[in-house]
Parts: sequence; structure tokens; C-alpha cells
Amino acid sequence: MACLLCFGAELQAQSTSKAEEKVKLPDIPGYQTLKGDFHMHTVFSDGHVWPSFRLYEADRDGLDAISITEHIDYEGYPDEIRKDYNKSHQIATESAAKTDVLVIQGVEISPRVTPYHHNALFVKDANKLPSDYMKDGKKKFVMKDNPTEKQLLAPFWEAKRQGAFIFYNHPNYRWWDKDKYGLDLFSDLHRKMLAEGLLHGVEVVNSGIYNLEAHRMAEKYNLTMLANSDEHRDISYTYRHSHRPMTLVFAKERSEEGIREALQARRTAVYFDDYLVGREKELDAFFKASLEVKAVKSNRRNVEPVILIHIQNKSDIPYEVVCKSDQDFENLPLGRLTLKPHETTTLTLKTLWQELPEVPLRFEVQNVLVSPEKALQTELRVKVTE
Ligand SMILES: [Zn+2]
Ligand SMILES: [Zn+2]
Repeated sequence: MACLLCFGAELQAQSTSKAEEKVKLPDIPGYQTLKGDFHMHTVFSDGHVWPSFRLYEADRDGLDAISITEHIDYEGYPDEIRKDYNKSHQIATESAAKTDVLVIQGVEISPRVTPYHHNALFVKDANKLPSDYMKDGKKKFVMKDNPTEKQLLAPFWEAKRQGAFIFYNHPNYRWWDKDKYGLDLFSDLHRKMLAEGLLHGVEVVNSGIYNLEAHRMAEKYNLTMLANSDEHRDISYTYRHSHRPMTLVFAKERSEEGIREALQARRTAVYFDDYLVGREKELDAFFKASLEVKAVKSNRRNVEPVILIHIQNKSDIPYEVVCKSDQDFENLPLGRLTLKPHETTTLTLKTLWQELPEVPLRFEVQNVLVSPEKALQTELRVKVTE
């Protein structure tokens, strides 16, 4: 909150930056697009900021929901901070009361053997999750020599008992135990967790980095896709050249319950840099909801009939598209163009003297991925007006 001595100045500075940084993304039919970051840390585990600062950031960055997910098995400041993994959520919830940001209680379960790191969201008592696979988690991370499967899965079972949604974080760390479990990052233990209802999603993006293997995993095992920051420090510095990564949640209502339902139903997309990754149904609707397209008859120099296609992009995302129709576009090699955010692009369709009641526009959207190897392909049919 503002310092009492300089209240006015700070308030003004905040409101300016807020207006500049809010993210503008469309809703899709039937659902609100909520922006979430469900993985971050504070001094209550291995982060470097206080929980209220995470709320300040989320509010400034225009997020709808966050989860502060402390490691249940590591304490960075055991001499200064008493171990209580509910505390950061409680502080965050108090700070959230002054904002519109929803705070979802979460934790990170972080063994360095398979199944590796996972977050559990919607837990009710984080202190009840056991971490008996650890030997020492105070200022260092030392696991028992041969933790049993029972010890490794115990926190997952407790999270499930509390009704948690669980996802696999940054699948990447096969070097920790490849000799024992092989190279597949989705191990037999993951398969078992999936069958037991202990695994529901995967981070396709962590710390702003797109993980192709995780994307393939999401598709193969039908997991919810997430993009989270996993921020430990100051997020505005980490993402000074772009927006922070976020999980877009297509929710029936803007509430904790709405987010839970959408995550369970796998209605999410991943937004990082200028990319969107998700499932075709939602991304097709999202791309279409981003645009307002008009086709207007025109008669060039009073002799040549053409149709002017005005494509307005109402979102923050610059869409890199290849656009084709049944007729030829003028001066548009290979149909390539960028639909810049909050701008209208006008194309000229040469009609070859045909009367057209409507025009089909076929797009390949190269920065929208509906599969690891496939960009979104979609079609709009636009009525031609006078
Ligand atoms: Zn982790
Ligand atoms: Zn983490």
C-alpha cells in the first residue's frame, strides 16, 4: 500500500502503469477468458519476496487469479520464518481483499526423482502434505537415499483427499535419475498417478519457456495445459521484454469454482510471448473472437470492381497469418501478413468481375498452435456489403 507521506504521487503512478499493462484478450462464446498464473514462490519457501508483493504484481499485470505454490519440502529461511505452508496463502488472501485477484491455495511437491515436481491447487491445509522422502529441507535439499514409492506418492494422495487439481511442473529433469527410470519423462509412476486420479495437467510453459515434450505429453495423455511463471524474484524484471506467461482459463464464471471446473474440463490455453497453445476448439473460437471483419464492395477508378476486406484485431496478440480466399488478394505474396494488435488491416480482393454475396477467408495462424506440429487453420465467411 502507498506510503502515507507520499500517498497521492504513488497512487497516480500506479494507475498509469495499470492502464498500460492490462492485457486485452477476448472472451469466447459461453466462457470468460480468465488470466492465471498458478506457480510462484515467496520467502516462505525458496522465493525472495513477500506474498503481498505477488498480489501487487498480479493486480498490476491484469491477472484474474494466482496461486502461491511453496515447496512443501524446502525452507529457505528456517531461522527467520516458522514452517507454516498455509501462511503465504493467508497473507496473499488478505492482500487480495484490496484487489480483484482471486487467490487459490496451492503447493509444490518437489522430489528430485520421478515423478519430479508437481503443483497441487485447491488444497485446504498445506501443512498436512507429508514430505517423508526428505532427509533435510532446511536451507538445503537432501532427499533420503532410496525414497519409497509410498513416501513419494503420500503428498499426492493427501492432496487428492483435499480435492486438489494436480499438474506436472516443467518436465525436463531426466538427468536426476535417468539411470534408474529411463529417458521417458512420463514414467511408469506418472502412468500410475494418471490412473489413480493423482495427475490432471502439465506445464507446457514454465518460466516463459515452451516445452515441446510437455506439449506432446498433454496431447498424448489428454492433460490440461498450463503456462506459469514459477517466479522466485521480481516478475517485472524477468519479463521486461514481454508480458508474463499466463494460463488462459475459459471459465463459466469468474470464481475459484469456475476456475476449478474449467481446469478439470481442460478448457485452457497457454499464452507466452506472442504465442498461444491449446486445443483447437477453444483457440478457433478465440481467434475468431479476436477479429472483427468487414467486406465492402468497391469500384476502383469507377471501372474495376474489388472488395475491401477490413480485418480489425481487438486483442493484444499480433497474429501471424497466411490468408487465402477463392479470388486473389492484391499485393499479398503467399497471403502472408501480420494482424497487428488493436489495428485494422485492409486487404484488396480482386473479384474478377464476379458478383460475390460473401467471401470465404481461410487462415493459417502460425503463432497459434493446436498441436505440437500444427498451426491453427480456420475459415471465416464474410458477407459483402455495399
Ligand atoms: Zn519446481
Ligand atoms: Zn516452482
